[in-house]
Amino acid sequence: MRSISILGATGSIGASTLDLIRRERDKWRVVALTANCQAAELAALAREFSAQVAVVADESYLADLRTALAGSGIEVAGGAAALVEAAARGADVTLAAIVGCAGLASTMAAIEQGKTVALANKEALVSAGEVMIAAVARHGATLLPVDSEHNAIFQCLAGNDLAQVRTITLTASGGPFRDWSAAQLASATPAQAVKHPNWDMGAKISVDSATMFNKGLELIEAHYLFPVGLDKLRIIVHPQSVVHSMVEYRDGSTLAQLGPSDMRVPIASCLAWPERMATPCAPLDLAQIGELTFRAPDEALFPATALCRAAAEAGGAAPAVLNAANEVAVAAFLSGQVAFTRIAVMVAEVMSRYNPAAPTGLGDVIAVDSAARAKARELLELA
Ligand code: NAD
Ligand code: MG
Repeated sequence: MRSISILGATGSIGASTLDLIRRERDKWRVVALTANCQAAELAALAREFSAQVAVVADESYLADLRTALAGSGIEVAGGAAALVEAAARGADVTLAAIVGCAGLASTMAAIEQGKTVALANKEALVSAGEVMIAAVARHGATLLPVDSEHNAIFQCLAGNDLAQVRTITLTASGGPFRDWSAAQLASATPAQAVKHPNWDMGAKISVDSATMFNKGLELIEAHYLFPVGLDKLRIIVHPQSVVHSMVEYRDGSTLAQLGPSDMRVPIASCLAWPERMATPCAPLDLAQIGELTFRAPDEALFPATALCRAAAEAGGAAPAVLNAANEVAVAAFLSGQVAFTRIAVMVAEVMSRYNPAAPTGLGDVIAVDSAARAKARELLELA
C-alpha cells in the first residue's frame, strides 16, 4: 500500500487522479486533499477517500469545511501555511495539481520530503526553474511529469542518454483558435477560449491553450526537466492530439508516445512508475482516427511561444515574471476586462518593464511573482 496527497484535489487533474485511485482503492492510503475554496466538494472527497487531512487554501472557507467534516475524524485546516504543512506530511506520492504559482510553496514542501512528486502544476516549475530542480536533487526527490507532453518525453527518454538526443518536439493541439484569423482573435470571448476541441481542462490552462502560452510554458518546463539545450527544443502543431511528443536521437530514430487525449493516461504512468497500471481509457483506434497531421506553429498570430522562448533564453527571473504576468492577464481576460489579444501584449510589456535579479531561493521566486503581478495590475489600471 502506498500513500498519496493530492494538492488541488477538486480540479480537473485532481478528479482524474482520484478516478484512478478509486479503481484501486485497496492500494492507496490518502493523506492530504486540498482545494482553494470548494469546501463542500473537498469534504465529500475527503470522506469518500478517508483522507487524513483536508485543507482549503483560502482560510475564509475553513468554517464551511469544518462544518462539512464534523464528526468524520478527518483533520481540517485552512490557509497558506496549512497547505504547506499538509504537503510536507511526506506521502509516498504527491500529485501537485494546483493551478498557477499559488501551488509553488506546497510543491516545494513536498519535494523537500524526498519522495515522489508528480507535477501537473507547470507554473510552479516555470516560476522556480533551477530553484526547484536544485531542491529535487538536494532532497533526493523523484519528479515525474504529469503534463502529457512531458510525460511522453519522459517515456521516450527511458533507458536513453540525454547526450544522444538531437531534438525534442512538443506537440500542440493549437487550441480552439488554431484556424482563426487575426480579426477573429481580436474579438474572441472567454466562452470560446475555454472550449477546447480535444481536452477537458480547467479554465486557466484552456485559455493558455488558446493563446499558445500553454505550449510556451511547456517549452520552459521541458527546458528544466530535460536539459538538452533550448536549441534542441521544438514545437509542432498536431491538431489530433494523438502523438503527445517526440524525441529524435542522433542516429535518426524518432520515438513518440501516442495515446488517447485523456489525462488519466499520463497520470497513471506517474502513479505506477516504473511499472504500469490499467486505466479505463478507450484504446487508441488509429484506423478510426485515420490521419495524423502536423504543421509549423504561426508565431505571428500566436506570439506566446516566442515570448516564452525568449524568457527561457534570458533565464533567471524572466520565466517567473512571464508566468505571473500571464496569470494576471488570463484572469483579466476571463473576467471580461481585456481582449484576448491583449494577453500576450501585457506579458511582453511587463517583461520589458521588470527585470529583477535571478532568484536563488523559494522566497525570492515568490517575491518576483508578487512584484510582477503588481506590475501587470498597474497596466490594467492604465488601460
Ligand atoms: P483546475 O482549475 O481544474 O483545478 C485547480 C485546482 O487548484 C483546484 O483544486 C483548485 O481548488 C486549486 N486551486 C486553485 N487556485 C488555488 C490557490 N490559489 N491556492 C490553492 N489551490 C488552488 O485546474 P486543472 O486543469 O486541474 O490544472 C491544474 C494544473 O495542472 C495546472 O497547472 C495545469 O496547467 C496543469 N495541467 C492540467 C491539465 C488538464 O488536462 N487539466 C493538463 C496538463 C497540465
Ligand atoms: Mg500539456
